[in-house]
Amino acid sequence: MILGHETSAVVEAVGCEVKHLKVGDRVATEPAVPCERCSYCRSGVYNLCPDIACHATPPYHGTLVKYFLHRAAYAFKVPDSVDNEEAAMIEPLSVAVHSCKRSGVTVGSRVLITGAGPIGIYTLMAARAYGATRVVLTDINEERLKLARELGADQTILVTKELSEEELVAKVKEAFGDGEQPDISLECSGAPSCSRLVLLATKSGGVAIQVGLGPPNVSLPIADAAIREVTILGAFRYKDCFPTAVAMAASGKLNLKALASHRFDFKDCLEAYKVAKSGAGMKVIIKVTE
Ligand SMILES: [Zn+2]
Repeated sequence: MILGHETSAVVEAVGCEVKHLKVGDRVATEPAVPCERCSYCRSGVYNLCPDIACHATPPYHGTLVKYFLHRAAYAFKVPDSVDNEEAAMIEPLSVAVHSCKRSGVTVGSRVLITGAGPIGIYTLMAARAYGATRVVLTDINEERLKLARELGADQTILVTKELSEEELVAKVKEAFGDGEQPDISLECSGAPSCSRLVLLATKSGGVAIQVGLGPPNVSLPIADAAIREVTILGAFRYKDCFPTAVAMAASGKLNLKALASHRFDFKDCLEAYKVAKSGAGMKVIIKVTE
């Protein structure tokens, strides 16, 4: 199984009917190509297509190769102001764009993000771009929270074993001040405790969206969420978010590079995966060359 789905590439050849790309263009590739025929595809929610073919999702190989064939409509040209590393981050940024759009983050939103890993940080950037006026992140790692603050988080909460769930909810409320609570909470860690926290901490009538994927079954405070009318949403990948993410990267207002913690040549892939597995740093970049 060849891995790799967060990818930028250079166009080497195009089919005769491809009009929007030419040889030499640099592109970000949307890894999941849907069937374009089923009811989900036809109604615009192509991320839910049962026949979607996604890079590095069995049985489909990923992009950690010198050459790969890709449907042109799912390759997005990036401008000169977006370099190859940033272009490879269009994919995770699209995850953030999708969850912000789906949960309704807009001008004035007060937002809680649980998890300050790459998706949590990209979600911070996207929420800011969509006009959120207060963004608070939680994590168990102070280094990651420091990066979140540097990249625009208003406040961060370090989650420790000593904190009870009640204390944590109180800390979130405190972070939003004046008896306020988040309008929208985006769960980006996959930790079961965070899936609980976003339901408990979101204001009555607010929205909690599950972006992170952890264990398949989690115990949730569902009665509390129900009687307070917290809307619970799921999120899966993205649909039609790459153009927005490319435009956001091209604006120069996001510090996407801040997440590139390690860089490796293709020949040192194994080392790159060891670093990624260790949890050190954020984004590990592998450069495939001749
Ligand atoms: Zn389909």
